[in-house]
Amino acid sequence: MAFESLTERLNKAFKNISGQGKLTEKNMDDMLREVRLALLEADVNYKIVKDFLVNVKDKAVGQEVYTSLNPSQMVVKIVHDELVALLGEKEAPLNFKESGMTVVMMVGLQGTGKTTSVGKITSLLKRKYNKHPMLIAADVIRPAAIEQLQTLGKEVGAEVFSLGIETPAVETVRQGLARAKESGADIVLIDTAGRLHIDDELMEELAQIKEIAKPDDILLTVDAMTGQDIINVAQAFHEKLNVTGLVVTKLDGDSRGGGVLSVRSITQVPVKFIGLGEKMEDLDVFYPDRMADRILG
Ligand code: GDP
Repeated sequence: MAFESLTERLNKAFKNISGQGKLTEKNMDDMLREVRLALLEADVNYKIVKDFLVNVKDKAVGQEVYTSLNPSQMVVKIVHDELVALLGEKEAPLNFKESGMTVVMMVGLQGTGKTTSVGKITSLLKRKYNKHPMLIAADVIRPAAIEQLQTLGKEVGAEVFSLGIETPAVETVRQGLARAKESGADIVLIDTAGRLHIDDELMEELAQIKEIAKPDDILLTVDAMTGQDIINVAQAFHEKLNVTGLVVTKLDGDSRGGGVLSVRSITQVPVKFIGLGEKMEDLDVFYPDRMADRILG
């Protein structure tokens, strides 16, 4: 990655500081300027950066940073810890039902990796959790979506329920859930329709599916490569549906992932999984500390 890491930046800034070795309020500001640049470069939203810096400064001033032998390392540590806190501290598992069938609804704009993520999560559920998932193809807008899900279902070994594109999505979901219960599935994943932009019709359909399916989790896929736009999209979905988790896709690209921080801190919804490629095994549980390292570069 061509980014300069925050540690490098701070070391450089600290070398330029006169009076060697000691950190003062004045050169603390120089350091914070470097933190600010590093975060903006990582694509963190500027409003979030602003609040973040106030926090970091408060923490730094309150600690032994000023007497520390290596103040730039200390600042990096504070920044790192604050990022981890903002990213949610610990990994967030799916909301599995204690008994009975867990229902997961996947939502997101077209092209963000929604259908692919359904396949990947299914594969993970089978491999790591020994679950018996069933999939419902409720994207009746894009005909290829049903076939795509059927192909993925075959690949990962899960039944895919579909009534084709003629049946309304809500009806497909209703019948799909009945079929899943019959078949003894312990978890159902519903793939819903995405659009290129958020529109009322899409949101209404999703709200109806939510009403019927009563999902334990509503996962929103967001594409790490979309930059700042990620926030508006997530907000719109969250307002309408009360999303319970995020799946951030395409983190195998060269995005530093600052958008993840923005979307997490604005919605306050945990990131549950990250997508790291196009293959079915390219999915990982989200670990806030690893993400903080990535954002810091
Ligand atoms: P949907 O319209 O939201 O259902 O999106 P798809 O699941 O069809 O994915 C759109 C494209 O993104 C496909 O070419 C996927 O292979 C690709 N894709 C999905 N997730 C990832 C990911 O984590 N990394 C990469 N590199 N590509 C992904």
